[in-house]
Amino acid sequence: MFQKILIANRGEIALRVLRACKELGIQTVAVHSTADADAMHVGLADESVCIGPPASRDSYLNIHQIVAACEITGADAIHPGYGFLSENAKFADILAAHNITFIGPSGDHIRVMGDKIEAKRTAKRLGIPVVPGSEGAVSDEKEALRIAAEIGYPVIIKASAGGGGRGMKVARSEDDLLVALNTARTEAGAAFGDDAVYIEKYLEKPRHIEVQVVGDGAGQAIHLGERDCSLQRRHQKVWEEANSPALNAIEREKIGGICAKAVADLGYSGAGTIEFLYENGEFYFIEMNTRLQVEHPVTEAITGIDLVHEQIRVASGGGLSVTQDEVRFEGHAIECRINAEDPKTFVPSPGRITHFHTPGGLGIRVDSGAYSGYKIPPYYDSLIGKLIVHGRNRVECMMRLRRALDEFVVDGINTTLPLFRDLIGNIDIANGDYDIHWLEKYLAKAE
Ligand code: ADP
Repeated sequence: MFQKILIANRGEIALRVLRACKELGIQTVAVHSTADADAMHVGLADESVCIGPPASRDSYLNIHQIVAACEITGADAIHPGYGFLSENAKFADILAAHNITFIGPSGDHIRVMGDKIEAKRTAKRLGIPVVPGSEGAVSDEKEALRIAAEIGYPVIIKASAGGGGRGMKVARSEDDLLVALNTARTEAGAAFGDDAVYIEKYLEKPRHIEVQVVGDGAGQAIHLGERDCSLQRRHQKVWEEANSPALNAIEREKIGGICAKAVADLGYSGAGTIEFLYENGEFYFIEMNTRLQVEHPVTEAITGIDLVHEQIRVASGGGLSVTQDEVRFEGHAIECRINAEDPKTFVPSPGRITHFHTPGGLGIRVDSGAYSGYKIPPYYDSLIGKLIVHGRNRVECMMRLRRALDEFVVDGINTTLPLFRDLIGNIDIANGDYDIHWLEKYLAKAE
C-alpha cells in the first residue's frame, strides 16, 4: 500500500480523495494555487504545497510543479481527481518514468479512449454496442453522403478530437450534410488542431446512461451498475441518479456484464465509465471516461462500495475488494450538482459565502469544500458541492431530497439550489420520464 498520496486537484473532489486516504491510513499532500490557500482540503491534509498562481495552466495543470511537489514531499502516488490532469496520457507517462504511481489507467489506455474514433473502434472490437455510422474518419463528401444514406437521416458529424460537447453538427438532409461537414471540419481544425470528423446516426430522444466499471489491470473487472445522467444543460450534467428509472434488473445485468467483460479483456486498471445513449431499449456507446466521475457517489450509495478506496487498492496492486457476485444494488440515489451560479441565467456567482448550512439525517451526503466565510475564487468551475440522497426506493429518495433541499442554506452568493426545488415538484421528474433534451426544454419554457 502507498505511504503518501499527493492529490492533484482542488475543491470537493480533493476533499473526497483526502477522506479515502485518511480512512486507509495513508498520508496526504495537498497542492494548491495561491487562490486556494484557504481551501478546506488544504487545511485537512498532512502537508500542502503551493504550486503556482491562480490560472489552472500555471498550477493545477502544471506537470513540472506537481512532479516537483511529489519529489519534495516524498509522495509515492498521485490521485488526479477529475478534470485537470486526470485524462492526460502524457502526465501518466511522465509519472511512470519518475516511479510515481498514477492512480488511474495506463497512459496507453487513456490515449485510446481520448481519441473518439479510436475509442469507438476499440469499443466495437470489445463487443460494446456502438452508434451506427462511419468506421473511422470520413475522407470526402462522397463517402459522407454514402454513409448517411446507408444509416438514414438525421445524422451527426463529430470531431475525432472533440470533447465537452463541442464540435458536433446535426444534418437532416443531403444539403445540410454538405454544409455541416465543412463547418464541422473547419471548426474541429481550429479548436482541436485536428480536422478529422466522423458520422453517426443522430438519436432524437435518447437518455444518457453510463456504466461504472473497475478493472484490476490483470484481467479482472466488475461493473457497479449504471447512472442516469440525462438531465443536462449544455451537455453539462445537472442531476444524476442510480439506478436509471428506464432500466430493469435484466437490462442492467446485460449491459453491465458486457462492459465488465470488455474492460477485463482490455486489461484496464482502475475506475472508468462507459457512456451510452439509450433509446428504444438499445444502448449506443458514445465514450469512455478513464477516471472517477463527479457523479460517482450515487453508485457508492446504492452499492456501499467506496470507489476511491477501490482505485487506490487497484493502483497499489492490491486488487479489487469485491467480486461481481458480491455487488448488490440497494435502493435508489440521486445527486444534485450545486453550482455557484444564478439559477435562471446560470451566470457564475463567485464571492464570499456568508452562511453555509448543510442538511443531515438518514440517507443524506454532502460533498463540499465550502464553509461559512469561504470565498469562492472566480478562476475555476462553479461546482461548490454535491447533495447525494439515498432511499430504499425512488419515492423515498425523492421525499428525502425535497426535505434536504429545504434545509440547505447558502447565503452571500447565488446557487442552483432553487432549480432543484423546482424540479422536485415536476411530474416528469417524479415519474423519471425524461430524455437528454428535457431540461433544456423545461428551462426554455420557464424563461
Ligand atoms: P463529448 O466528448 O464532446 O462530450 P460525446 O460523444 O460524449 O461528446 O457527446 C456529447 C453529447 O452529445 C451526448 O451526451 C449527447 O447529448 C450528444 N450526442 C452525441 N452523439 C449523439 C448521437 N449520435 N445522437 C444524438 N445525440 C448525440
